[in-house]
Amino acid sequence: MLAKEILERKRDGCEITGDEIRFIVRGVTDGSIPDYQISAWLMAVVCRGMTETETAVLTECMLDSGRRLQPCSSRPRVDKHSTGGLGDKTSLILAPLLACFDLDVPMLSGRGLGITGGTLDKLEAYPGYRCDLRQDEIDRQLNQIGCVITGTTPDIAPADRRLYALRDVTGTVPSVGLITGSIMSKKLAESLNALVLDVKWGSGAFMQTLTGARELERSLVRTGQRMGVAMSSLITDMNQPLGRMVGNACEVNEAVEVLRGQGPADVLEVTLALAAKLLIATGRADSESNARKLLEQSLAQGKPLDRYRAMIEAQGGEFKDQLPTGKPTEVVADSDGWISAVSGRDLGNAIIAMGGGRRQQGDAIDHRAGIEMLVRIGDCVERGQPLLRVLFEGPTDQRKAIADQVRASISMGLERPEVPKLIV
Ligand code: URA
Repeated sequence: MLAKEILERKRDGCEITGDEIRFIVRGVTDGSIPDYQISAWLMAVVCRGMTETETAVLTECMLDSGRRLQPCSSRPRVDKHSTGGLGDKTSLILAPLLACFDLDVPMLSGRGLGITGGTLDKLEAYPGYRCDLRQDEIDRQLNQIGCVITGTTPDIAPADRRLYALRDVTGTVPSVGLITGSIMSKKLAESLNALVLDVKWGSGAFMQTLTGARELERSLVRTGQRMGVAMSSLITDMNQPLGRMVGNACEVNEAVEVLRGQGPADVLEVTLALAAKLLIATGRADSESNARKLLEQSLAQGKPLDRYRAMIEAQGGEFKDQLPTGKPTEVVADSDGWISAVSGRDLGNAIIAMGGGRRQQGDAIDHRAGIEMLVRIGDCVERGQPLLRVLFEGPTDQRKAIADQVRASISMGLERPEVPKLIV
């Protein structure tokens, strides 16, 4: 078999066989196919698309390129995957919450990618928090606490590591088939019984249109189902940040507020809706309303916060009620009007400019940097009213420049806008 012939067939719009996909993924993993041929194949996939069967085989081969975490108890193993967005801190609440229902949550998470934050970066705001647990440490923690949030190891889906790096530099990230293979090969390596997906759509999301989000959702769900996992999913809004806080330490503080039974209603709503799907999938509840009741009771009793704290400490972190955040600078409205849109891209870029995200892999993070949103789409504001606070420790002139930059991320109009539905 020759890589050149396979990529030419893909270029010409032919469906490629399982053996051909296996050949490509083997060559990606062992290095026998050079970068230029893999890149050409990736571009052909982006242009021609992949069938459901091709996507399923690609995912299976990428999964088999490495090892899987093995179950360590008879409890069902569950997890959530979000396609990422600004202010999305639901994982921090969901993992300990589900652990309170006698479920194992072996959450392998990632770092920030582009403008969207990463769960590991947020948790590393706790001094000492470790994201490099070995399988024996993961097993021990699952048996003691029921939840783990750590990073993927180099031997989990190694094919994705090389493919993703090439996709990043060759403009071949936006392909539903390739995204599905990349996400699902890592999630399926957790040996899950049930997985819930939170597919985000909007200006602060990877998928900017609802149609694109629906296509990705269908592909992820079908692929998981073919591999025997109970799949469920939600499409949720990312036309504005989830909750009030965007940034690492301030998002952690907000997640702790929700675990205390306080915190913003939208964060709680998305978290409960996702958790309910998993309680139903694992037989812990027989209906959405019953699941929500159980989840709310658990939060009111404070047990998920105890699990969260235990998880942070088990992973070497120093739990604090409130992590320090940057010095606040208020940004006010320069006219009366309705908040009509929020540019996720501008907010995300401002976080990166403050050092709260990475320009390139390996950049250090300033966990204190963040933005507190004081308004939402559909709010009516008066001139001079605070719109948001920039949380940043930098020098005054830099704080002012960032404040001007984020002011431009909020659009205002003279008419009441349509407010996007939180859960589509
Ligand atoms: N997240 C991933 O892990 N992979 C993709 O391709 C896109 C988002």
